[in-house]
Amino acid sequence: MYKAFLIKYGEIGVKGKNRYLFEDALVRQIRFALEKVEGEFVVSKENGRIYATAQTEFDYDEAVEALKTVFGIIGICPVVQIEDNGFDDLAEHVIKYIDEAYPDKNVTFKVDARRARKNYPMNSMEINMEMGGRILDAFPEMKVDVHKPQVLLQIEIRKHINIYSIEIPGPGGMPIGTAGKAMLLLSGGIDSPVAGHMISKRGVEIDAVNFFSFPYTSERAKEKVIELASIIAQYTSKINLYIVPFTEIQLQIAEKCPEEHLTLVMRRFMMRIAERLARKHKSLALVTGESVGQVASQTLAALDVTNSAVDMPVLQPLIGMDKIEIVDRAHEIGTFETSILPYEDCCTVFTPKHPTTNPKRANIEKSENRLDVETLIEAALAGVEKIEVYPK
Ligand code: ATP
Ligand code: MG
Repeated sequence: MYKAFLIKYGEIGVKGKNRYLFEDALVRQIRFALEKVEGEFVVSKENGRIYATAQTEFDYDEAVEALKTVFGIIGICPVVQIEDNGFDDLAEHVIKYIDEAYPDKNVTFKVDARRARKNYPMNSMEINMEMGGRILDAFPEMKVDVHKPQVLLQIEIRKHINIYSIEIPGPGGMPIGTAGKAMLLLSGGIDSPVAGHMISKRGVEIDAVNFFSFPYTSERAKEKVIELASIIAQYTSKINLYIVPFTEIQLQIAEKCPEEHLTLVMRRFMMRIAERLARKHKSLALVTGESVGQVASQTLAALDVTNSAVDMPVLQPLIGMDKIEIVDRAHEIGTFETSILPYEDCCTVFTPKHPTTNPKRANIEKSENRLDVETLIEAALAGVEKIEVYPK
C-alpha cells in the first residue's frame, strides 16, 4: 500500500541559514542507506519535507530498517500519496487506508488535516469533521477521541495529498558529514565501537585506527576489528581503518619500563600515533571508549596521563556511563556479539598484574624516556595498513 516515506527530522530544522546543508547531508545519507535495500527510490526535498519515494516494488521491512540507521531522522512515516481528485476520492482512499492499516477497527481516532495550499475548497476544520463522519459511517466500531486518539490520521493537502498515521521512531542525532571527522581508536572490545557510534550520531564522520601486535594477536583478532568497523559503517558510510603494527613498541615497553607503567606508556603511544594519523587524514579529534573508574587505566589520574600525550581534543562519550548501559547500547547497535568473540587484543597480552591507579605524569614520562619514542612512532607509522571498510 505504501509507495513513499515521509521523513521527519528534528534538530536540523533549527539550523538557520545553514539548514540546507543539513538537509542535503540527510538526503545523501538516506540515499546511501537505501542503496542496499531491494527496490529503487528517489529521495527528494520538497518544502521543508524529505520524501523517499519508491520507483519500483520494494521490501518494506528492509527499507524501514535501513532508514532507522540514518542519523538525523526522528520519524519515519509510511505515507499514501494521492493526486487531488476531489473530496469524495480522498475519502475513498482514506477509508481504504484505514481498512488495510488497522485490521482491528476497535480503535479511537482523530482526523488532523492541514492545508499547505489554501485553494483547497474546504478548510482544515471542515475536512476533519466531514472525514471523521465518513470514517464512522464506514467503520461504526471506531470511535472519535480528540484528546488521546490511538490513531491520529494525518491528511496533508500539498501538491499531492499525503495520508499517514504511523510514525516509526528514527535514531535522532545529526546527519553524518555535518560535523567534521574524528579518529576512533577501535579495539576489539565492547566499549570503543559504542563510543564511535555515539560520536557519529552527532554527525561526525569516523575514521578508525587499531593497534595490532602480530603474532601476539592473531589474524582473527584483526578480522574481528574489521567486522566491528563494518557494523559501525552501517550507520556512517565507508570507514577508513588504519591498522598500526604495534608489536615492536609493546616489546620495548615490556623490556624497558617498570611493569606497573606498561599500560599507560602503551596508551600514550597509541594516542600519539592516532593523533599523527588524525592530522594527516583531516580528523579534528580522537575518540576513545573510556569510562571513569572502569579499570586502573581509567581513573582520572590515568586519563590525565593518557590524554596529555596529545594536543587534540579527546572525545570520550562513554565517560559517565556504567558498563551495563554500555552493554545495552552495544546490543542495540549490533556490535555486542562480535565484541565478545574471544580473540585476544593487544592490551590483554601485555597487561601488568598490578597497574598503577594513581599515576603522575612526571613518573610515566620518566619511564617513557627510556625509549626512543619518536623513532618507534615513525617506524610504526611506516608500517600502517589502510583498509576501506564498507557497511556489513
Ligand atoms: P574497549 O572495550 O573499547 O576495548 P576497554 O574498556 O578495554 O575498552 P582500555 O583497554 O583501557 O579499555 O582501552 C581504552 C580505549 O583505548 C579503548 O576504548 C579504545 O578506544 C582504545 N584502545 C585500546 N586498545 C586499543 C587497540 N588495540 N587499538 C585501538 N584502540 C585501542
Ligand atoms: Mg579493550
